[in-house]
Amino acid sequence: MRIARHVEALTPYTPGEQPKSRSVIKLNTNENPYPPSPRITEVLNGFDLDRLRRYPDPNFAELRARLAELNGTVPERIFVGNGSDEVLSLAARAFVEDDEAIGSFDPSYSLYKTLAAIRNVPFVPSPLGPGFTWAEPVTTGANAKVALFLLTNPNAPTSILYPEENIRAFAAKFPGVVIVDEAYADFADHNCMALATAADATNVLVMRTFSKSFSLAGLRLGYCVGPEPLIEALYKIKDSYNVDALAQAVALAALTDVDWMRSSAAKVATTRARMAEELRRRGWDVPNSQSNFLFAKPPAHAGTPAGVERAAEIFEALRARQIFVRYFTYPETKDRLRITVGTDAEMDAFLKAIDEIA
Ligand code: PMP
Repeated sequence: MRIARHVEALTPYTPGEQPKSRSVIKLNTNENPYPPSPRITEVLNGFDLDRLRRYPDPNFAELRARLAELNGTVPERIFVGNGSDEVLSLAARAFVEDDEAIGSFDPSYSLYKTLAAIRNVPFVPSPLGPGFTWAEPVTTGANAKVALFLLTNPNAPTSILYPEENIRAFAAKFPGVVIVDEAYADFADHNCMALATAADATNVLVMRTFSKSFSLAGLRLGYCVGPEPLIEALYKIKDSYNVDALAQAVALAALTDVDWMRSSAAKVATTRARMAEELRRRGWDVPNSQSNFLFAKPPAHAGTPAGVERAAEIFEALRARQIFVRYFTYPETKDRLRITVGTDAEMDAFLKAIDEIA
């Protein structure tokens, strides 16, 4: 058995835990607490099994057309993937030479670093400004030029939205490709879709997912929008049937009911404001979130043993109470918890637990 050296050496990405028990209050993977559109049930109930006997449309033409319409662009500027994670993985292959690098802010979506390791190119982290704010991205490092910059906006796990103007100005002078990963954009006040749909766009792709605002993380569907040459490059290297027939049908059903998604995103935003307020009243530091999670730092506690992070202590205590949140041990993130905004009842249970722990 011979495993490629870079794969042998690789530390894989660890997704948030998916517990079997339904009694867990699951605030650890930024899923939507509300169900997807009921129109999906109708489509699933009436789904013709003959469509599973055959291969799906390799170019998902209907879905592409509908996504183009939703985003005010043409189908030629849309690429669809098996989750936006697949779009990212294809982008790492399509836009990066062997002697180039992949960059992103740090902290950001930690998969990006793993993607560079899988692609066997260096990862160049860009530090953020104070309070996780925008700072000019670093575009060289490890003796390589960054060819692909992955820019989550609003950022994860920080929850902060960067101004469109900063992204526009950076992309204008950056010679590589910028992917604005807008997984959480439906929870934000602004987005950068215009940078990808503009007639003169050359190097910006804006990426979206059905996993968060559309409540369809189990479906695996993401897409990106951008200039045709970049979109065509992704088509060239994708698997023939990367989006299955069920996913295409379910996504189309969800797209007939975009208002459903918007109203559940609005409910999440309302609960988010209440949660942030409640935590701040308890002395937590909570940046203004534009996503469906909070990145919150608990106040110091006299009982915390020396050398132990209070956030880590609370993470474990919540876990013992069957409440799962996310804790990242990196230096810039180890004093905070990333808490997905759940239903109001889930948030009340969370706050009650926090009060007991303190
Ligand atoms: N980008 C970001 C910033 C994310 O947080 C996630 C979810 N972990 C993804 C992309 C991947 O989403 P999908 O479910 O579409 O693969």
